[in-house]
Amino acid sequence: MVSGCVDPSVPIPPPVPSKAYGHQKRYGMEDAAAPGLVRHNCVSTATRDMWDRLFNDGYKADVVIYTDNGDTIYAHANIIGTASPVIKGMLKQAKRHGKWHTISIRGVPHDAVRVFIRFLYSSCYENEEMNQFIMHLLLLSHAYVVPQLKRLCEWHLEHGLINTENVIDVFQLSLLCDFPRLSVISHRMIMKHFKEVYATEAWIAMKKSHPFLEKELRDSVIIEENMRKDRIRKRNEQRIYSQLYEAMEALVHICRDGCKTIGPHDKDFKPNHATCNYEACKGLESLIRHFAGCKPRVPGGCVHCKRMWQLLELHSRVCADSDQCRVPLCRILKEKMEKQSKKDEVRWKLLVKNVLGTKKIGGSPFFLPVTSSYSSVS
Ligand SMILES: [Zn+2]
Ligand SMILES: [Zn+2]
Ligand SMILES: [Zn+2]
Repeated sequence: MVSGCVDPSVPIPPPVPSKAYGHQKRYGMEDAAAPGLVRHNCVSTATRDMWDRLFNDGYKADVVIYTDNGDTIYAHANIIGTASPVIKGMLKQAKRHGKWHTISIRGVPHDAVRVFIRFLYSSCYENEEMNQFIMHLLLLSHAYVVPQLKRLCEWHLEHGLINTENVIDVFQLSLLCDFPRLSVISHRMIMKHFKEVYATEAWIAMKKSHPFLEKELRDSVIIEENMRKDRIRKRNEQRIYSQLYEAMEALVHICRDGCKTIGPHDKDFKPNHATCNYEACKGLESLIRHFAGCKPRVPGGCVHCKRMWQLLELHSRVCADSDQCRVPLCRILKEKMEKQSKKDEVRWKLLVKNVLGTKKIGGSPFFLPVTSSYSSVS
């Protein structure tokens, strides 16, 4: 049974004008199993079968194709020469014995050549054959310049036939035969499943035949791994800066409005039952309670107090207006920072820049804009 019959060289046509609607049936319909490849509906099953039969029966054939192990395939010069410019050239130079041209296609299994020649006749193939000979067909499609088969092989590899066992061969072939898309896809797969691919026989063979390529691949795995670690590090950093920003917002909110159990320090405490929108409030509230009750309460003392001091100091650096601010020590800490060492200053400026940078869009009226001199690192 014919399981595939496609002509990928035919592009999907634009919508047909309403007057010529009748043509839509002839050319339209995309093959759902192979997006981008168009089923050529104008060719009926009977016609396809006829082309298949012509190939199978070899009626009035005039070409003998020699394959490995002395096997032969019969074909028609007009058909295979039209389907492949390379075969056309071979036929021109071929020896002739009466009406017979003789050419050779070697280096791939006989059955793969058979599948290839059949495709030249009818664009038909069996899925099992495609699975079995995909690499040979890819090579043949390139060597004999049959672009529709080339695209079909690429499509099948991309949609399931590429695996950790054959990916190294696919990669090498894609570089050798100019399949840019396939080289990217196979390279990505090698990076993703490196340990598995590294253990295959194909890798060992590549190491012997193409040591430079093997080294390049190993190097790119290292680069990829470093980039991955870098991405994770940056994401984690970003999360911390974002949490700090939220803590800064919550701190202003607690000291200005009061929240649940803590009121502004300069007013009598009235329980605030309004719904709190600041996620960071809960943690910050217990930290403030601890800070208020902890005996040492010195910078560098208790770990919680140290954290609170850092938050207060960060606040005073991002605070837009210390005169109006309700956060304790805001102004004092701002004065203190003028006496800081250059090294500390650079470190703090970088932190402020990163924290404010997490909420570039919109920002907050209580904090300095991210473009302010406080946020630039000199
Ligand atoms: Zn709150
Ligand atoms: Zn403490
Ligand atoms: Zn402040």
